[in-house]
Amino acid sequence: MSLVSILLPVYNEEQTLNELYQQLKEATKDSPYKFEIIFVDDGSSDNSYSIIEGFCHQDKRVRAIKLSRNFGHQLSITAAIDASSGDAIVIMDADLQDPPSLIPEMLARWEEGYDVVYASRQQRKDTWFKRITAHLFYRFFNLIASYKTPQDTGDFRLMSRKAVQALSQLRERNRYLRGLCFWIGYKQTAISFARGERIAGKTKYPFLKMVRFALDGLFSFSNLPLRLSSYLGFVLSFFSLIYLTWILIQKFILKDPHLVLGWTSLLAVILLLGGLQFLILGIHGEYIGRIFDETRKRPLYLIEKKEGFANNE
Ligand code: UDP
Ligand code: MG
Repeated sequence: MSLVSILLPVYNEEQTLNELYQQLKEATKDSPYKFEIIFVDDGSSDNSYSIIEGFCHQDKRVRAIKLSRNFGHQLSITAAIDASSGDAIVIMDADLQDPPSLIPEMLARWEEGYDVVYASRQQRKDTWFKRITAHLFYRFFNLIASYKTPQDTGDFRLMSRKAVQALSQLRERNRYLRGLCFWIGYKQTAISFARGERIAGKTKYPFLKMVRFALDGLFSFSNLPLRLSSYLGFVLSFFSLIYLTWILIQKFILKDPHLVLGWTSLLAVILLLGGLQFLILGIHGEYIGRIFDETRKRPLYLIEKKEGFANNE
């Protein structure tokens, strides 16, 4: 019988966990598969971990991992992937925005021979701000990324062991998993679903964290921002050269008496160029910062304790 691992990153989700567990039980009932359900507590400061321990005690399929602090969504998923032993894994959010009722459909596609089955959001019920920014982000991403990824797809997906092994070889720190999962290739397919609302609690992605995540995605899948400076430099020098030629013609050939230009235009140009230089320095800094991050080779996450894994055998 195949084993399927369900992986759930959890950060301060005490309000959603009981309902989530009920729905997972429902979705895995009468299934021809064996399941292991791995909760990774990403350094929650509420009661999440003791609730998960409770599940462990009543259900041999449940495993718990507690990270030593908050490492962030992408790394808690990574910790869950590393700890999983299923022939297939299903990654999903713990707030029931990714419905467990979709799992049987994903498994059916896996049986058809697909290695990655990702859930694509046909609709989503988040705030209008999140919907618009996410919509624009996925389009902008594909515009500049050197590698295209499916749009409107989060981390909710099934992966075969083969795909998991491939993904596990990518140990970069600034993880944009939805890009990496696509980068590995193999047979992939999408199923669509309507993403509902969070059932309780509030989003763990406040605005700045969302921006940081978007930047991680862009900078790890595109070198275009880095190249921007060469393009801009080229365009600017080209126009300056034309302008210089024109001034020289005015001065020496046309002998224009009004040639002294005002401070205003001069200042405008200086400010504009100064601004651009800072912007581009900043972009270079983003990449250098990430290179520095990678070269330190710190472990991606640290585990404080685990429970339920002895049941595997
Ligand atoms: N999460 C996590 N660590 C974090 C932030 C979030 O493990 O630092 C988990 C969170 O508990 C949830 C999932 O990642 O299960 C997605 O987070 P959330 O629902 O807050 O994001 P949104 O759906 O609003 O984008
Ligand atoms: Mg959510």
